[in-house]
Amino acid sequence: MPDQERTREIAVDRELCMGSGMCIVYAPGTFAHDEATKAIVIDPMGDAIDAVRIAIEACPTGALSLTSEEERG
Ligand code: SF4
Repeated sequence: MPDQERTREIAVDRELCMGSGMCIVYAPGTFAHDEATKAIVIDPMGDAIDAVRIAIEACPTGALSLTSEEERG
């Protein structure tokens, strides 16, 4: 049953993002750059939560935030 599903929401503030790419270094399965060299979320479940947390903390401008997280099991 889909009870095992996990969800995560990650917000990128495009005004704050200056394209450093740190988030992509730490969580390459989650973040990528778009054509404007701003971070985008390609897959909110693309990396372990620890990697996502590190990526969020590593952002030099504080552009990233974990807006919700539900993990079961
Ligand atoms: S680490 Fe922050 S500033 Fe750098 S690309 Fe990611 S969101 Fe943008």
